[in-house]
Amino acid sequence: MSLGQTASPSGPVLPFPCPAPARRAALPPPDRRILLSPPLLTGREMPSLQATLDSGWVAPAGPVPEAFEAAIAEATGIPHILATASGTAALHLGYRLLGVAPGDEVWTSTLTFVATIAPAVQMGAVPRFLDVSAENWTLDPALLERELARAARRGRLPRAVVPVDLFGQCCDLDAILALCSRWGVPVMCDSAAAMGATRRGRHAGQGARLAAFSFNGNKIVTTGGGGALASDDPALIARARHLASQAKEPAPHYQHETTGFTYALSSVLAAVGLAQLPALEGRVAARRAVFDRYVAGLGSLPGIGFMPEPAWGRSNRWLSVALFRPRAGAPDREWVRLALAAAGIESRPVWKPLHLQPAFRGAPQAGGAVAARLFEAGLCLPSGSDLDPAQQARVLEVIRGGFAR
Ligand SMILES: *Cc1c(COP(=O)(O)O)cnc(C)c1O
Repeated sequence: MSLGQTASPSGPVLPFPCPAPARRAALPPPDRRILLSPPLLTGREMPSLQATLDSGWVAPAGPVPEAFEAAIAEATGIPHILATASGTAALHLGYRLLGVAPGDEVWTSTLTFVATIAPAVQMGAVPRFLDVSAENWTLDPALLERELARAARRGRLPRAVVPVDLFGQCCDLDAILALCSRWGVPVMCDSAAAMGATRRGRHAGQGARLAAFSFNGNKIVTTGGGGALASDDPALIARARHLASQAKEPAPHYQHETTGFTYALSSVLAAVGLAQLPALEGRVAARRAVFDRYVAGLGSLPGIGFMPEPAWGRSNRWLSVALFRPRAGAPDREWVRLALAAAGIESRPVWKPLHLQPAFRGAPQAGGAVAARLFEAGLCLPSGSDLDPAQQARVLEVIRGGFAR
């Protein structure tokens, strides 16, 4: 395989004047703003990039993406991996593999990011948004069971069920897989934000027909932009790899039996990912500590709640989420958000449920009241892996200031 061999052996000759690399000391002082989930470098990125560029392998194929895929397989325990240009690209490929066609129903949790369902909708699928359980805020298996039985009676089972590991916390994938296998419905898990999360000792997404991960800049480990599609089935990932590079058939000329995408991750970004993945476990511990400090600092205030963690799961606490339920002496979520913003601290309401989004007006749904209540009261707080206790003390102080004003 020599397609990636693009640099001349004597090193690159740039066709434009290239500024000298900035020295660290010349950078402006660190931003005083406290961000929700900023990207964090490990310090190993430059050597990894340098080695990749020196080798001349920069294309979206070759030994560097292969090494990154092996590292993802190792981290997740899912044996077959395609590194993709984004988490959304991985989901789109997954929908292609599942054969989603116009008019098919695709079911997902209503409490998620739009990217979970956007590719399916763009393929002509009809989304059905199911409510989450109050116990762990992810797809409610009891509701799914009722809806599947009802759909089977109507003779209109979904093409796929796509549960979501919310804010880095695993859905009850084992219960969902058992229900869906009863009806022969495949499951693709949107584990985009759940690298490093586990449930019942298994990694997020493990056991589903397909799982999608994201390495976007705001995720717990990042390539600056990237993702992965994962499966136990080597044939599915081989097919995804084919589609991700424009479905080129093996022939000297360009030969295509179908159309594909340019969705494979470049070697340059895979090199960044290789430097990031070893930090994953430490970052899960750091983000869990951030969450624990919020609970310790706010837990006794009136009306406060936190995203619950089921006994069978270990969230990576990608984002720490608190509930602000207004009552005497307690502010509502929007007061807290604005007070934090005024102090230079970023926070975000919980995902607005998809059944409430104008983009999906008229789409079928099942329940939705639990998710709607979580949207009203839920706020994602600064959760960076490097958020230090002094910075977090500033966040806590602003929030406490809203109580018993
Ligand atoms: C980040 C994210 C995605 C999309 O991943 P990208 O890499 O940004 O395309 C999809 N679903 C969920 C739940 C996410 O958090």
